[in-house]
Amino acid sequence: MNTLPGVLLLALLSSTGCAMNPATGERQFTLMSEAQEIQMGREADPEIVRTMGLYPDESLQAYLQGLGEQVAGLTERPNLPWTFRVLDDPLINAFALPGGYIYVTRGIMAHLDSEAELVGILGHEIGHVTARHSVSRMSRAQLAQVGLGVGMILAPQLQQWAGLASASMELLFLKFSRDDERQADDLGVRYMGRTGYDPAQLSGVMAMLTSVTAEEAGPRGPEWLSTHPNPENREQAILDLAARTEVSRDPPLVVHESYVRRLDGMTYGENPREGFFRGQVFHHPDLAFSLDFPQGWRTMNSKQAVQALSPDQDALLALSLGEGATPSAALRSFLAEEGMQAGPISEAAVNGVPAATADFRFTSSDGTLDGRVSFLQHRGTLLMLLGYAPSSAWAARQGAVRASLGSFRPLTDRRYLDVQPARLKVVTLSRSASLSYVLDQEGAGDRIEEVRKLNRLEGNPPLPAGTVLRIPVGGVLPGEL
Ligand SMILES: [Zn+2]
Repeated sequence: MNTLPGVLLLALLSSTGCAMNPATGERQFTLMSEAQEIQMGREADPEIVRTMGLYPDESLQAYLQGLGEQVAGLTERPNLPWTFRVLDDPLINAFALPGGYIYVTRGIMAHLDSEAELVGILGHEIGHVTARHSVSRMSRAQLAQVGLGVGMILAPQLQQWAGLASASMELLFLKFSRDDERQADDLGVRYMGRTGYDPAQLSGVMAMLTSVTAEEAGPRGPEWLSTHPNPENREQAILDLAARTEVSRDPPLVVHESYVRRLDGMTYGENPREGFFRGQVFHHPDLAFSLDFPQGWRTMNSKQAVQALSPDQDALLALSLGEGATPSAALRSFLAEEGMQAGPISEAAVNGVPAATADFRFTSSDGTLDGRVSFLQHRGTLLMLLGYAPSSAWAARQGAVRASLGSFRPLTDRRYLDVQPARLKVVTLSRSASLSYVLDQEGAGDRIEEVRKLNRLEGNPPLPAGTVLRIPVGGVLPGEL
């Protein structure tokens, strides 16, 4: 029954200020209420899904959601709107947003060796949420910024291609302190024990992280690698704590084989159907076009855009989806933006592709940019090709930009159009064999390094009958055109 003081107390606890942390029992100064925290996660979630993409496998998504709910349900905050998603991203990563939104990449799932390890990852991320780590680090001023999305130095249309993460995303991925990471490890171990999984298995994740290269990890993974303290140091701490942790099942769960079987057929590594480079030439099989980027420019392909930066970092070229009914309509709305001065419009097709192109000058309080933009209508998709530089650099860069914009062309080579990503194949040995023998049989002899890493093997060990291996197959790109 709710007495009046009870209601008041509840209101106080859920409002901002100094409150008892549900997971750690410590008093914690926080300016954000639980409702605000949930709101923040709920607003950022579609943005994560849009920029990184969901892995298109409903049974795997349902598996992760079910497993995550099981873990979260036994924490100190079982009633948050817990949401677990597998992202279609090859990098090894996992992260959490305030309010109970947890993401793991297909890249990290491919590299985990058991359900217990996955529960450990989920437990660690859930720990960041139950201990309100990101929340307690945000000031009210920062919160206001998240709402406003401030920090734009260019007009929105230009800014989104400048490779600048929006202010709100930066804030959501505030780096956790070492203490926060240790606490999340501790909570992960605690939650593994409560769910009946062997908590010592989390140390295997740390061992895996030390063995992956920076390339596999990616340049700016928000969690697990770039922001996490040295995995070697954490491995022993986890083992020590695990030995003292009570587990709700005897024997504790590990679940290696059925976990690995779930990965059968999973996309592995970069997906070339979303576009790939051969030298400076970009091919996009799904959208069936090719484009030459300038020699010497540094290129980058993401789900949002393909970009290239000039060697002196004074010019940017970006290819992305455009908005508008026709190239001409899209161009006119682009040129109508405040601060824009438009040059003459050309509606000449580019290599047979309907297009609208113009030079422009864009003036803001930060200075003046010169650039050239083309909108193209290719097989029902409207694309925007944009190159620009500060006015002082434009004369030196506009030739390269013009050449690139003029190189857009339909992709017709079947070998490129039909390219497929590598996939994990799960193989069960019917009799004992050496690793190299098995790989030769599978036509994957040149992938022994990768297979060792994926399966936590060393050298060329004899493998007993019944061994379950995951082997990347396919995904080989055709030679240069
Ligand atoms: Zn963490």
